[in-house]
Amino acid sequence: MQTQPPKQAGILAAPNLDDDQVIGVVCGLRPCRRGGLRLEIEQRADIGKTILHNYGHGGSGVTLGFGTAVETADNAEQCLQDCEPIGVLGAGVVGLTSARELLLRGHRVRVYAEKRAKQTTSIIAGALWLPIGVEFGRSVSETEHFKRVLHASHSVFQQIDRERYGVEQMPIYEPAYALEEHRLFGNGTIAPGERLDLLPLAGPPRSGRVFRTDFIHTDQFLDALVDEIHELGGEFVYRVFEGIDDLGTLDERVLVNALALGSREIFGDDRVFPARGVLVHLKPQDLGYGVHDGFRYMFPRRSCLILGGCFLEDDWNDQPEDAIVDEILAHHRRFFGLG
Ligand SMILES: Cc1cc2nc3c(=O)[nH]c(=O)nc-3n(C[C@H](O)[C@H](O)[C@H](O)COP(=O)(O)OP(=O)(O)OC[C@H]3O[C@@H](n4cnc5c(N)ncnc54)[C@H](O)[C@@H]3O)c2cc1C
Repeated sequence: MQTQPPKQAGILAAPNLDDDQVIGVVCGLRPCRRGGLRLEIEQRADIGKTILHNYGHGGSGVTLGFGTAVETADNAEQCLQDCEPIGVLGAGVVGLTSARELLLRGHRVRVYAEKRAKQTTSIIAGALWLPIGVEFGRSVSETEHFKRVLHASHSVFQQIDRERYGVEQMPIYEPAYALEEHRLFGNGTIAPGERLDLLPLAGPPRSGRVFRTDFIHTDQFLDALVDEIHELGGEFVYRVFEGIDDLGTLDERVLVNALALGSREIFGDDRVFPARGVLVHLKPQDLGYGVHDGFRYMFPRRSCLILGGCFLEDDWNDQPEDAIVDEILAHHRRFFGLG
């Protein structure tokens, strides 16, 4: 049993991180790509299809999905003939946002995937609206392109029914020792953080920063996307693709590839790699704030309190192990002066 610190004036409520609060552990593989996002049109004469690639979102698929969907739908409009249906491969956040955008533009869409939305990596995402764990690009034109995608996504996040989609602004506290990634801020999407001599958090006194960004209750977000796709007339077909030839059998001539890590095998892209993350879920706690320190973070999802985590590149193990779980709990207990 951990000891809750006494409440202090001006200090936000501490989380309860007792063992009996733990309700589960999840492990997910972020679908990363060396060289960053792949958003391009590929003609595949071998299977008679036009492929619109949309993958490589790494640790930011929830953040970027609406933006990459806009560009993918623009690409689709260069390829589709009048009233021609389009297939979307993948039902994670990237496939779903692509399908939604295409449907909103009046296209007929069928989504093909092995796993349903709430069985994918996308359900594991915290999710903070923050472009981390993804390459911004190396050249000026690549980074400018990335920023356009970021802005397009940010703009859709302002337009959706945020209540329905489970999106809310939240203050996020970072200790001063946490790496400050300047490129994440001041680009018109997230305002730079405010410096604080004393973070209003339980535990050892320390300085830091606070910024505000969207927090996405991912379970509600994915439900809203699936519901909206149904309402707009989209269809879902659940099946596995064993190889590229399977795509040749689909009815649609134009396909969006949102297969994430699946793109490595199906499209032979060896730049695709996983970054493993483990998260501990605790009973829900209505804290109203988050803590961020690289991949060590705490987010109060409505259905559970999330403690992270790690970012282990090229690790394909999708099962959590006790040592990592113990380390995550110990880290957060130390941070809040518990125990
Ligand atoms: C621990 C963790 C924390 C994260 N936190 C955040 C965060 O705070 N903010 C944020 O923005 N992002 C976060 N992410 C990243 C985010 O979850 C991913 O970027 C996002 O889920 C990628 O979505 P996707 O649709 O590309 O892939 P997925 O969700 O993996 O979906 C891929 C789809 O393709 C299908 N598929 C693949 N191969 C095949 C095949 N051969 N046949 C048939 N179907 C196939 C799958 O079944 C699935 O439907 C986090 C991820 C992890 C693991």
